[in-house]
Amino acid sequence: MKYSRRMDGLPPYLFAEIERKVSEKKKQGVDVISLGIGDPDMPTPAHIVEEMQRQVADPANHQYPNNKGLDEFRQAVASFYRKRFGVDLDPETEVFPLLGAKEGIAHICFNFLDEGAVCLSADPGYPVYTSGPILAGGTPVPLPLEPELGFQPDLEAIDPEALKRARMLFVNYPNNPTGAVIEDDFFRRLAEFGHRHDIAIIHDNAYSEITFDGYVAPSFMQTPEAKETGIEFYSLSKTYNMTGWRVGAAVGNSSIIAALWCLKTNMDSGMFQALQRAAAAALNGSQQCVRDMCDLYRRRRDLVVETLGAIGINVTAPKGTIYIWVPVPEGYTSASFADMVLEKCAVVVPPGSGYGPSGEGFVRISLTAPDERIKEALGRIKENL
Ligand SMILES: *Cc1c(COP(=O)(O)O)cnc(C)c1O
Repeated sequence: MKYSRRMDGLPPYLFAEIERKVSEKKKQGVDVISLGIGDPDMPTPAHIVEEMQRQVADPANHQYPNNKGLDEFRQAVASFYRKRFGVDLDPETEVFPLLGAKEGIAHICFNFLDEGAVCLSADPGYPVYTSGPILAGGTPVPLPLEPELGFQPDLEAIDPEALKRARMLFVNYPNNPTGAVIEDDFFRRLAEFGHRHDIAIIHDNAYSEITFDGYVAPSFMQTPEAKETGIEFYSLSKTYNMTGWRVGAAVGNSSIIAALWCLKTNMDSGMFQALQRAAAAALNGSQQCVRDMCDLYRRRRDLVVETLGAIGINVTAPKGTIYIWVPVPEGYTSASFADMVLEKCAVVVPPGSGYGPSGEGFVRISLTAPDERIKEALGRIKENL
């Protein structure tokens, strides 16, 4: 069989080797603790599950959904954006359902990229910012996030040749994997940059609700010019512990939304209506469950930051996300430290280099394991350093 050149162009799956080693260890009976995956360990809040149970039982939801999404879903997203961010969205033209943000990230590349066209992709970043453009036939160009600049890209330092060919740009704040948040006018500069260079700005907003210490994350759409130049992907996955449900939304520029809709009518048949209604209930309902989750993650964050400090690894406590971005000790690379931790401590931490070249020198610790498991994992690391 012959596979497409695009498939061959995908970067090697860095975590495949880790997964192989983990399953080997488990087979030997070793108690492996994973601080690897960003998948909330707590269940979806009961009121959302109950709404889903009701909706699944309703035959009105059993047929093909309308591809554009239910009014009820689009209105719930718009009303959430108004309440939470003070942003006005037209539910008819500026909101569109996604089967998770990941799906939107991968598919939107087909809207913008021809052969040779460039996507500027946050580095380190969510791996689909790189694989999406490759699958669409375009060229991802890393947009380094510098620790000195608070893990924001230097928009003035982009290679002019890449800039000329660039059609789109992916960023994400609060940031996976670095935990960085926006506290300055970066979004305004970003919108202005997109406008000036005619580049679609795609802001991946997976973590705006997971924040700590009084920090409130902005939406890119709060920036006055954002709607002219870009869209934002909102995801319910992390906010409501709904990673398995596959639900998110694209919001913003109506022309981009229309293009994505057109593309997706050719690729999928929309989102299960019961799910759209349960998602609307999540967005319209009490947000107390989200505050409780933030308390839990903040406690785990403090535990990790304090314990690392006690063994001489100093990290600043992030104001958002479910990750700690940890510089590796002297003498290690990302991969060699991750390897040592797996071999000697049976703890999985992904090497930062798996998120792009600029991730070298870091590993990512995820806060989505039970407190006791996090404590146990850190204890093992402490013993072996
Ligand atoms: C988890 C995550 C996603 C995936 O969101 P889904 O809605 O579950 O597809 C997208 N982007 C980032 C940065 C994430 O961390």
